Amino acid sequence: MNYAEKTCDIAVLGAGPAGLGAAIRAARLGASVLLIEQNGYLGGNMTIGLPLLGFLDRDGKQVIRGLADELMEDLRQYRTAYGPAASGYRYCPLHNSVALYDHELFKLVALHKVLDAGVELLLHTSLESVNVENRTLRSITVRGKGYRIAVNAKVFIDATGDGDLAFEAGASYEKGQAGTGVIQPPTMMFTVGGVEMEKLIDYIAAHPEEMEKSPSIQCAQGYDAEYFRADPTWVMVTLRPLYKRLRAEGKLPVDREDMIIINSLLPGEVHLNCTRHLGVDGSDVFSLTHAEIEGYLQVEKFVQTIRAEVPGFENCYITNIYPSMGIRESRRFKGIRVLTEQDVVSGHIPEDSIAIGSYSVDIHMGDGNSTDFRKIPPYGIPYGVTVSDEIEGLMFAGRCASMDAVAMSSARVMPICMAMGEGAGIGAALAVRQRISPRDVDVSQVRDEILRGNGIL
Ligand SMILES: Cc1cc2nc3c(=O)[nH]c(=O)nc-3n(C[C@H](O)[C@H](O)[C@H](O)COP(=O)(O)OP(=O)(O)OC[C@H]3O[C@@H](n4cnc5c(N)ncnc54)[C@H](O)[C@@H]3O)c2cc1C
Repeated sequence: MNYAEKTCDIAVLGAGPAGLGAAIRAARLGASVLLIEQNGYLGGNMTIGLPLLGFLDRDGKQVIRGLADELMEDLRQYRTAYGPAASGYRYCPLHNSVALYDHELFKLVALHKVLDAGVELLLHTSLESVNVENRTLRSITVRGKGYRIAVNAKVFIDATGDGDLAFEAGASYEKGQAGTGVIQPPTMMFTVGGVEMEKLIDYIAAHPEEMEKSPSIQCAQGYDAEYFRADPTWVMVTLRPLYKRLRAEGKLPVDREDMIIINSLLPGEVHLNCTRHLGVDGSDVFSLTHAEIEGYLQVEKFVQTIRAEVPGFENCYITNIYPSMGIRESRRFKGIRVLTEQDVVSGHIPEDSIAIGSYSVDIHMGDGNSTDFRKIPPYGIPYGVTVSDEIEGLMFAGRCASMDAVAMSSARVMPICMAMGEGAGIGAALAVRQRISPRDVDVSQVRDEILRGNGIL
């Protein structure tokens, strides 16, 4: 095994929305940044066929801009055979807002942003071990093909989703819902082509009961066939009665109550958020292996069934099964502040906020087949959720940040994770520049930088 060493101001582990936000914003402030990613490409869950939720609040007002908006604008400038590579932000009666984009071109646009900011990249590289002395994170060792690499940095930002770095460093964390520890189930995302959506929309127009939601899901008026016909920027949550019948007949071995169809920018193609795997812990390799196997088998069975049963899907075919299981929830670490359910449902916006969330509480129940989906007002995410309360030099951003399970179910959507990552990256860069701990950074300076970067606070 070869050995190498890297020294930088800030090391970011994980290049999903949170890690991209952190790395790019820190590097733009002049810090030397190393972004380490286990995949050979950037984006994390931004590459698995999902729409971007969270740009608009429940009244249709924009609450996220910053880097997420910059990336969308770059995609809109990208002309393809089917038009711009991203949509605008369309109001949605169910999700507040929806933005669609080309997930493959996103990898390219994100790469340009990272390179333009001067971030150094280490791809195909995963965490091996950490060196914590006197409750201070001094260095980490990562491993890529042929190399074990020691990384020395002043600040480490864990943006792995599962908090792999914070876990190795011995930071305390929580998993699952309060009281039960039940974790939101993951989903294997996949894409199908050959779909005639007009047929499904006609079917829904003739059978409006197919748009009825479970009582645990809040939806505003107007989420109907006409909404889907008016503009192709939509996510359709539908077919609850049909699903119920197919499950009763044993034709659909999936523990969920309806189908989530995400329109694609490519004609005839849709992304499907339709499998569900109960009892899976995405931070446990044995559990994850089981889920990946089950995911593929569910996808296969699901496609057979929708070809036979769902109008418009008769000739559909799989064009993509995404490279890894989509994990909604795993570890959440203890920061100097915790974002709570009370904060998000009351719309509390503290003075040390670094991002505004407004996406609904959205808990895919891990012990049944329902979803707890509640609309909430805009709320602030305090800087302290990104700073470890226990280990000096350790920060976190995105899904693994310091939040309770209910708050996380809202703040987990990708534009919010990216905005949170931006705040963490700016905080880390200011700490390095001022030679202070990230916990001692003046949050008003972080906020000034966020506003300079076109963020909304
Ligand atoms: C099925 C599903 C549906 C969803 N639907 C939506 C939706 O419609 N809209 C929306 O906006 N959000 C949605 N979300 C939420 C959103 O995708 C995630 O919560 C969000 O991507 C979290 O961002 P992150 O940066 O924290 O983590 P991730 O996006 O998971 O990125 C983490 C990155 O870290 C890397 N990594 C992990 N471990 C290591 C390691 N040990 N070493 C090196 N690299 C590592 C990963 O490869 C990845 O690139 C959905 C999530 C799921 C699972």
